[in-house]
Amino acid sequence: MNATTSSAAAGAEPSAGRLQREIMTRYPDNFMLYADMFAMGCLQHLQGEHKAGLKLIDQVRRALPTTGNKTYFADLLEALAGNELRFASEIQAHSEINDLLERAQRQHSSLTYTGRPAPTGLAQVTEVHTRGVQFDCPHCRTQIGGWQADPRGREDTCDRCHQQFYIAPDATVIFD
Ligand SMILES: [Zn+2]
Repeated sequence: MNATTSSAAAGAEPSAGRLQREIMTRYPDNFMLYADMFAMGCLQHLQGEHKAGLKLIDQVRRALPTTGNKTYFADLLEALAGNELRFASEIQAHSEINDLLERAQRQHSSLTYTGRPAPTGLAQVTEVHTRGVQFDCPHCRTQIGGWQADPRGREDTCDRCHQQFYIAPDATVIFD
């Protein structure tokens, strides 16, 4: 187990490191189960599925004794928004789940458009759906589709020429 320098002072930034250590001590055999569940909760929360995310995180809270953890957990949840990625990495879940969080974080920030301020009195659309992620193979220019998520920053292999390539993290998103 790693020694973390977390003992700073009460009132410092809440960290999931303490949770990580408690789960590790209490459930050494099932540690990944709880860590992954907590990280998935962070992911859901980051993606705007707040209720579902909190539900997953609450499952982890229930696995710990209330005594001594009530305030800690309340502080953790209060700081969750904006800290999802950090908490998930502190809990040390499987790296695949952390990858999902990083991708979600990138998507979140790349799609945060700072345009004109909202005009008063107009009804607002708060979700924009796009469909059909596609890009061209950089080797043979075959169009590749089928991604259900933001492919930027990932690797893929062309079905036609079987060559591997990388999708640039800052690839432009074009709304056709
Ligand atoms: Zn190709």
